[in-house]
Amino acid sequence: METVLSGMRPTGNLHLGNYYGAARSFVKMQDEYNCYFFIADWHSLTTHPKPEDIQRSARTILAEYLACGIDPEKATIYIQSDVPETIELYLYLNMNCYLGELERVTTFKEKARQQPDNVNAGLLTYPTLMAADILQHRAAKVPVGKDQEQNMEMARRCARRFNNIYGVEFFPEPQNYYFGETAIKVPGLDGTGKMGKSNGNCIYLFEDEKSIRKKVMRAVTDNGPQAMNSPKPEVIQNLFTLMQIVSAKDTYDYFDSKWNDCTLRYGDMKKQLAEDIVQTLAPIRERIIEISSDQEGLDRIARLGAEKARESARKTLNEVRRIIGFKVY
Ligand code: AMP
Repeated sequence: METVLSGMRPTGNLHLGNYYGAARSFVKMQDEYNCYFFIADWHSLTTHPKPEDIQRSARTILAEYLACGIDPEKATIYIQSDVPETIELYLYLNMNCYLGELERVTTFKEKARQQPDNVNAGLLTYPTLMAADILQHRAAKVPVGKDQEQNMEMARRCARRFNNIYGVEFFPEPQNYYFGETAIKVPGLDGTGKMGKSNGNCIYLFEDEKSIRKKVMRAVTDNGPQAMNSPKPEVIQNLFTLMQIVSAKDTYDYFDSKWNDCTLRYGDMKKQLAEDIVQTLAPIRERIIEISSDQEGLDRIARLGAEKARESARKTLNEVRRIIGFKVY
């Protein structure tokens, strides 16, 4: 059975982008694959979180992921820092990565721009830590959104390079997995780029009805369609993309035809979009509340997951040590 891995940084709550880009695919896959899901608390250190927030944030994300439908009976769910084997593989992979290729990664360039006073080596080697997360389980598939395509390319390169250097066929090249035909990019409500925690433009899975409606009604728009069948400017396309993701096809087609014949009223469209987001998120929100009330249960799931993940990682690392020429414990 093929292995699948998916991860999430515990920096803030899960949002619609995380759900449609990653969580939903993972839930779909857990019946058919050997699935690992982890909470990337080491990755979150690039932004220096407060020590007292570390454990709480991981538990929050764990509860939210379970609420999306990840089932601990089917998938192995663990916290990254509970599996120290990852760090050993990270070190080996870093030895085979070049400064130039890491500096060219778009997410690194973006982060370096966003936080110019904190361009640390962890940011630079973010893709090798991600590669270690994936390769330690020799995962064949990784459900990701469009924003992660380049990091996935680095993970494949790490696998290929390791195999070439040592003349082995040890690591499979992990492939991107998309829920539909292609990668999904959930846009933000501010008319620019993607929905993302650091962009401050998110609708969170835990968000209440009132707040969702307020955010959607405030989404950036323009003066309305100016000519029949004209192309949509980015701010408007974003609203339509969101609608395509959360609403029924009929609803999307209705507003699309209104755009095309210049009768679209943004207020009506936003009201409908807000309603559909509220309906989508209401059951998830209820489950988050229920699951979060059992902190011992969350701890138990994390403990069991860590044991299973370590077993898988240890197996890989033993082989890696043997291939490189180190002692095997
Ligand atoms: P992050 O929130 O950056 O830790 O991303 C965790 C996962 O969510 C990754 O697989 C991303 O590809 C996915 N993701 C995050 N934001 C979006 C978005 N706006 N659209 C699609 N997928 C996303």
